[in-house]
Amino acid sequence: MSKRDYYEVLGVERGADQKDIKKAYRRLAQKFHPDRNPDDDKAAEKFREVSEAYEVLADSEKRAAYDQFGHAGVDGQAGGFGGAGGFGGAGAGGFSDIFGDVFGDIFGGGGARRHPNAPQRGSDLRYNLELDLEDAVAGTSVDIRVPRHIECERCDGGGAEPGSSKETCPTCNGMGQVRMQQGFFAVQQTCPTCHGSGQHIKVPCHKCHGEGRVRETRTLSVKIPAGVDTGDRIRLNGEGEAGLNGGPPGDLYVQVAIKPHHIFQRDGRHLQCEVPINFVDAALGGELEVPTLDGRVKLKIPPETQTGKLFRLKGKGVKPVRGGPPGDLLCRVVVETPVKLGEEQKELLRRFQESLEGTNSHHHSPKKSSFFDGVKKFFEDMKP
Ligand SMILES: [Zn+2]
Ligand SMILES: [Zn+2]
Repeated sequence: MSKRDYYEVLGVERGADQKDIKKAYRRLAQKFHPDRNPDDDKAAEKFREVSEAYEVLADSEKRAAYDQFGHAGVDGQAGGFGGAGGFGGAGAGGFSDIFGDVFGDIFGGGGARRHPNAPQRGSDLRYNLELDLEDAVAGTSVDIRVPRHIECERCDGGGAEPGSSKETCPTCNGMGQVRMQQGFFAVQQTCPTCHGSGQHIKVPCHKCHGEGRVRETRTLSVKIPAGVDTGDRIRLNGEGEAGLNGGPPGDLYVQVAIKPHHIFQRDGRHLQCEVPINFVDAALGGELEVPTLDGRVKLKIPPETQTGKLFRLKGKGVKPVRGGPPGDLLCRVVVETPVKLGEEQKELLRRFQESLEGTNSHHHSPKKSSFFDGVKKFFEDMKP
């Protein structure tokens, strides 16, 4: 995943202030807006990229995390957090807020505006979870801390202090929009008094300050089924952001990624590992101890084993989460050249080498002799 730097995307300096960031975003978003570039995938992609950059840089908290950790800080690679649908998806917050904020006065609020008081489903959330291979294979249960908006208990999500009432916004008569005359044009604007809700809260709830939702970090226990792999998602119904105006909450998606393992590489339901053997065992054959996820097992190596040979241990891989038989463990033996030999050992090897000379070398090292035969032929063919 190679994402461009958000500052670069917007073409602003790292120290740019909010005004400049907003200005840059407006310019680019207007240029690449889908309404102006119908059926242009490139423009749509640019628009998405620009919006994502703005979403982060316009939010001081997210921007600080991005400045410190880069994309990882806002994508939440290390168990962090990000909105799942990104913008344009279901729900409140995220992109729709930016859109209203920046475009409210450019596009006049747009024709597709939903009714301000209609129930809205809460946003889905994504949690990136890194698991050890052992836990992913055996299944486990993990506690994750999820920061999210939940409905305010004090005001039941209405935003008004208990005992006080809401009234229709006097500025817009409950429409959420006001018309302004600018020269020849009549422009629709989000009502400055009620910010589009159409209602005026006389006494805002003391707990949520009239928003109807409060931010809360909850600890959730998530059951990880055995066999999950990188890319699998676990959905927790209704554990996303609270809805607005009585809408249902979104869902929480736990996105699984498996950490690299120091012995095994995973390839779907199969595992691979590398096992070093010394060249005497490789030549004479022998027995090796190889690791599996449930302990050591013995592996018989036949005489004349070449480096790189794969041995398949059936059923010693991973049982897939979606069912089916377990995969295999593939052990690749790698012949290790001996190091730090003593004088006596070196002498033995020299004598061993001498013992090979005079005999038919093709007999003992078929690969080597056919290689050098090929090299010889190669140079002979080059002669004029
Ligand atoms: Zn109003
Ligand atoms: Zn409240």
